[in-house]
Amino acid sequence: MNTKFISFVIILFVAVGSSYCQVDHDEKEKRKKYEVSKSEDEWKSILSPEEFDVLRNKGTEYAFTGEYYLFKEKGIYTCAGCGNELFDSKTKYNSGSGWPSFYRPIKGSAIDIEIDRSFGTVREEILCSRCGGHLGHVFNDGPKPTGLRYCVNSISLDFKKK
Ligand code: FE
Repeated sequence: MNTKFISFVIILFVAVGSSYCQVDHDEKEKRKKYEVSKSEDEWKSILSPEEFDVLRNKGTEYAFTGEYYLFKEKGIYTCAGCGNELFDSKTKYNSGSGWPSFYRPIKGSAIDIEIDRSFGTVREEILCSRCGGHLGHVFNDGPKPTGLRYCVNSISLDFKKK
């Protein structure tokens, strides 16, 4: 009886454990195939080392240093990796954070959001939906009408003047 119970518990643990592994595996399988997809060497050949570090290695530029932090021209911000249109200057505001900040993307499908558990925190990472390039993070301390702050590295952006 006791042995049967112990066996049951062991089987239960193995079953639950393997189902978690299956979920993890399925998540990886689901990982998006991006329309613009390049090898690391191909990205290195078209991006500057600083762009590569942010867009492909999820780096962060120093606050208050980026080209577009205080930039006020009217136009469209695009992905520095693939040219995808990401943000309209109409939604840009000065958050005081030191990085270009927007309260919404140009359209929902322009970006992907992924959970980022690096540095012992849980943040929502912003990725370009066309090439998977890392853009920044989104926080819920933004202004109206969305209450969101899309905090983006200048170096992951290009600008098209209107
Ligand atoms: Fe892109």
